[in-house]
Amino acid sequence: MSEARVQKIVCPKCKSEMDIKVWDKVEIPYDMELKNKVLQNTFFRVDCVPCQNTFTIAYKCQYNDMERKYLLWVAPAMDEKTQKEISEYNYKLQTDNQLRLAQGGYRYRIVSNDNELREKVVIFDEGLDDRYIETLKIVYVPLIKNKIGEGTQITGIFFDRKKTGGYQFIVTFDNKPPMSANVNMDIYHDMTKKLAGIAERNTPQGLCRIDADWGLKVMMHEVE
Ligand SMILES: [Zn+2]
Repeated sequence: MSEARVQKIVCPKCKSEMDIKVWDKVEIPYDMELKNKVLQNTFFRVDCVPCQNTFTIAYKCQYNDMERKYLLWVAPAMDEKTQKEISEYNYKLQTDNQLRLAQGGYRYRIVSNDNELREKVVIFDEGLDDRYIETLKIVYVPLIKNKIGEGTQITGIFFDRKKTGGYQFIVTFDNKPPMSANVNMDIYHDMTKKLAGIAERNTPQGLCRIDADWGLKVMMHEVE
């Protein structure tokens, strides 16, 4: 079981000081309660008792699923220190035989917030490949833009399970409530075949970001 540290933070609204629990590591299958919090998007959520404000924080944390073999590194900011830590970890992955053997067949990803963390957990738990989910998003962007019209920006697209079965994208906007779009998995499966070569060639070893920008580059065949 992972252990929490206690950290003092200040409510951005009423400025009350409070103690919160922060986890440096989440290890699956041991920390199933924490996993549920990740899936419910409450892992980084703080409830302020005095003013009843709810807000989200993000801090450095490693989500390690030892059964499904993936490591998600939450890095809220890509500052110099974080970049150094990541390259040191990637170097260790190449040179430390013990770590290499313990984590053979692992997927390593960098995410920056609660939504991205949750999305990767959903994708990997479904046995899917996040790289083709990102390329699939690129297909949906023009369709969504068409629907919402000008004057609204897409701020995020997140893959999710539907309660009724199947999958959907939850799309967030700068000035509109979120919407959902059914995902056609036939396109996904098609992409796993057609884009396999270029996707493989452009997947870095070790910790890396696989996001919509990556998906766009692969779709445009720009990265080769
Ligand atoms: Zn407060």
